[in-house]
Amino acid sequence: MQVDNGHEGGSSPRLIIAARELTRQYGQGESTVHALAGVSLDVEPGEMVALMGPSGSGKSTLMQILGLLDRPTSGTYELRGRSVAQIGSGEAARLRGRRIGFVFQSINLLPRLTARSNVELPMVYARMKPPERRVRVSESLERLGVGHLAHRRPSQMSGGQAQRVAIARAIAPGPDLLLADEPTGALDRASGQAVLAAFQELNRDLGLTIIVVTHDPLVARHAGRIVELEDGRVVADRQVEDRIVEPAPATKGVTA
Ligand code: ADP
Ligand code: MG
Repeated sequence: MQVDNGHEGGSSPRLIIAARELTRQYGQGESTVHALAGVSLDVEPGEMVALMGPSGSGKSTLMQILGLLDRPTSGTYELRGRSVAQIGSGEAARLRGRRIGFVFQSINLLPRLTARSNVELPMVYARMKPPERRVRVSESLERLGVGHLAHRRPSQMSGGQAQRVAIARAIAPGPDLLLADEPTGALDRASGQAVLAAFQELNRDLGLTIIVVTHDPLVARHAGRIVELEDGRVVADRQVEDRIVEPAPATKGVTA
């Protein structure tokens, strides 16, 4: 793990993410895998970024480091101007619980819990008080257009509905950074579109910073910027000229 640069509060307070020359190696000796081979990435608050690249290019590894689920082998990472090298595991867990939301391709709701309880559980772990939890659960389910499913279990929902409950769970604690790894990968086209509409609305209305991994160029064009990885390096980083903007009501009352 890399040491910080000596600046108390970090050097890039304007950025939500400032990563420099991140590497991540798995294994040792001949079998060493260089999952990241020197990735630098700046993300401003309120950006929506698509992360693309072939399978094995390091997308998930990068997301795990950005989300404090993993640490780089070398390089520096400042999250909101703070060097993560200085953040201990307890505080990292707290930041993950409140400030960073995660959405995955495998929707991973707990099957025996209702939508409401699934959304509430991380806030129980984050030690939020019950009244605040209740408000946040209702607000986030409504925001994702799945308020009417509050008392259903995952098996009583479509895949798209379940993924929107999972997004509600991710945003309920009030994060300012949402990391989504192939969130539409397991969904049909209409459900995927509803998820993308929800992301755009969260980005626009709440100013949520979003990084979304995808290998679908159409999905990527919903972002404002596309970053491409190859063999653990950034090979392209550009603004999207022909951005696709989904109509906002798609997240309200949609049953797809
Ligand atoms: P992507 O998400 O772009 O498909 P990953 O970040 O999952 O890529 O993986 C990048 C490289 O690191 C791949 O070669 C993968 O096999 C390897 N890798 C990822 N996680 C591990 C791990 N826990 N142990 C060993 N190798 C890993
Ligand atoms: Mg991956």
